[in-house]
Amino acid sequence: MGKLLPGKAVYVVDTTLRDGEQAAGVAFDKAEKLTIARLLDAVGVDQIEAGTPAMGGEEAEAVRMIAAAGLKASVMAWCRATVDDIAAAVACGVDAVEISSPVSDLHIRDKLGVSQAVVLVNTVTAVAYARKHGLYISVGMEDASRADDAFLLEYIRAVTAAGARRVRYCDTVGILDPLTMAARVERLRRETWTEIEVHAHNDFGMATANTVAACRAGARFLDVTVNGLGERAGNAALEEVVMFLRHSETATGYDQQGLQRLCQYVAGAARREIPAWKPVVGQAIFHHESGIHADGVLKNPALYEPYDPAEVGLERRIVIGKHSGKAALLHKSRELGLQLDEEALASVATGIKRTVLKVKRALTDDEIREVAGTALGKMPVCG
Ligand SMILES: [Zn+2]
Repeated sequence: MGKLLPGKAVYVVDTTLRDGEQAAGVAFDKAEKLTIARLLDAVGVDQIEAGTPAMGGEEAEAVRMIAAAGLKASVMAWCRATVDDIAAAVACGVDAVEISSPVSDLHIRDKLGVSQAVVLVNTVTAVAYARKHGLYISVGMEDASRADDAFLLEYIRAVTAAGARRVRYCDTVGILDPLTMAARVERLRRETWTEIEVHAHNDFGMATANTVAACRAGARFLDVTVNGLGERAGNAALEEVVMFLRHSETATGYDQQGLQRLCQYVAGAARREIPAWKPVVGQAIFHHESGIHADGVLKNPALYEPYDPAEVGLERRIVIGKHSGKAALLHKSRELGLQLDEEALASVATGIKRTVLKVKRALTDDEIREVAGTALGKMPVCG
């Protein structure tokens, strides 16, 4: 069974199988969950939050299967702060638990209807029970970004003393910005020295940026989901965080080549198509059309690409569309074996713009040939 390796600078904690599956209308069956866990393991994710054993039935069985699959990654189960939930996790054979409890006054009052003191006592009791069973413990602080500062510090100190190895700082409704997130993490590190795990939601499109900011501020555990799948607007996307870490000074050692396969599989199982422009895995992110960009990329791809498309199993393409310039048209016409002089090129460019406005997309090679044929008043000479 996998265990969390000690001493790494950064740990990627994937929660596609728990938070990701909580996205409205998404449901993975047992076999899909196991496949996703194996693909996550192949990418090198450090810890997989596999599900919620207390739900029983198929859900518990899936967690059990993943825990027994011989993965390199640590396998974690999500629990409420109750002995019963943790007992269900123990029965699944996981090596780690996430013990989650709301920490904001809003949640404590309107959801649980109890006091801060009750939340604290329940969590500490649950942590002690999990510790007795030799589990690695993360304490999830739901809605931490809206919690009372003094209570948060008291809570972190108490659960750490009880045996929690880290606390999960949840921006549950995604309200933070990167600067605020970094300041919050720095403060918690300074005041408590407890390991911080960041859990960022994407309601304002900040999840990846907030996760990276937290990492820069000292949070070593980064929660992600594949394709950013998760509650409402989702979570920080695994593929974005992993690729950013790889291309910043934070060396990691995750296998980015496996991302495309993982993301496509999850998209299929979740019935949530990946947009063409999705960072890292969108099929069109290395397509270049506009005149200046296409010309630049043909001279040196680094001018307009942050990394080689082959790193993530994608291809660079010069696409012919409304914004295509001379360099791209010349490149494409050579590729298609069309010999065009300056005058012919200009009339083909006009024909292409007209056609693109009709079909509202980039043109296929056959369409370009046809436009060239029409523009020249005859079939072009093939060379
Ligand atoms: Zn969440």
